[in-house]
Amino acid sequence: MKITQVDATRFKDYDDHESIHECIDPDSGLKAYIAIHNRNLGPALGGCRIWPYVSADEAITDVLRLSRGMTYKSAMAELPLGGGKAVILADPKLDKTSEMLHRMGDFVDSLSGAYITAEDSGTSVDDLQIIGQRTPFVAGVTHKELNDGSRVSGDPSPSTAYGVFVGIKASARYRFGDQNDLDGLSVAIQGVGNVGKRVARFLVDAGAKVYVADLYEEAVSDLADKIDINPVALHDIHKVKADVFAPCALGGFITEQTLSEMSAPVIAGAANNQLAHQGIGDLIIQENKLFAPDYVINAGGIIDIYYERSLYDHQRVLQHIERIADNLEEIFMLSEETGQPSQLVADEIAESRFLKKFECQDVA
Ligand code: NAD
Repeated sequence: MKITQVDATRFKDYDDHESIHECIDPDSGLKAYIAIHNRNLGPALGGCRIWPYVSADEAITDVLRLSRGMTYKSAMAELPLGGGKAVILADPKLDKTSEMLHRMGDFVDSLSGAYITAEDSGTSVDDLQIIGQRTPFVAGVTHKELNDGSRVSGDPSPSTAYGVFVGIKASARYRFGDQNDLDGLSVAIQGVGNVGKRVARFLVDAGAKVYVADLYEEAVSDLADKIDINPVALHDIHKVKADVFAPCALGGFITEQTLSEMSAPVIAGAANNQLAHQGIGDLIIQENKLFAPDYVINAGGIIDIYYERSLYDHQRVLQHIERIADNLEEIFMLSEETGQPSQLVADEIAESRFLKKFECQDVA
């Protein structure tokens, strides 16, 4: 078992990261990278992704990008957390073993709390519990008690979905005027997995008309058995004449092509890294659409995880998540005033939050 620091300065996505660690354990077949981007506001928290990367460079690129994203997301959500991420080079369906996860726990533990790991693509709450047998620096695993006395698992998806619901309401209110009452609002949701299906439920309960599509037909039919939704063909969901398009599947969906086919004037959903590239932000402005930056609207999960690590008070968690609406409103107003794409405005606000803290500490 060996952990070594990697010099990643040659990578395009290197952004003054604090450290990048290569973790190798031949016995369990574990090869992983942990990146700590910035800890000005607190320990670096971010998920552990398991993915069959084709090369070490591809994995390092991903971990650099994802860890930086966590710094921005937590700073924007006003959490005392920094940004970090881990990636394991393996196929989660074929290669994942308890031994591998235990070694990952040992590596995380060796960083003495500088990095706190959590769930991501390819890892489940159960996997995190196995990692947690070797280190206390794991989040999103503890059962929590809600206001109604019920207990839920550490899964942050319900809180992410609530934040997206709050964000859709705030975006619709900004674009269409008073929308506290969602009666009559129509929303097209792409992807009804852990987050999307819950967003759909919140919206239907609030009186919205909801269209959905998913790669897995069963995900749609299961949901249609429970709530009043309108299934749409997979490749048509972004073309639906709805008020809001909510991408809740994979990132990179918003391209020149999909944007030109999109009918909804508002884009607000859970997926990470929705814009295929930064230039799409300018096109969104040209098309007179409103875009809720992804790491702002999908911060409910990280907010939930933060409170899980201190005193979990469900009411406080919900109140903190509801501040997503204030963040979005500030971003939309500044974007309109300056003509800058909303995601660039969001980046500037997030930077001011984590860099300002750094300057204060420097002076102190
Ligand atoms: P998930 O894997 O449970 O659900 C994603 C769903 O999208 C699946 O049902 C999948 O079949 C569907 N899908 C994939 N490609 C599709 C396509 N092209 N068209 C339509 N459907 C497609 O994931 P999730 O936990 O619901 O997360 C959804 C998104 O939100 C992801 O981008 C994730 O990174 C992001 N996110 C999730 C959380 C969280 O707490 N789970 C937090 C922040 C961000």
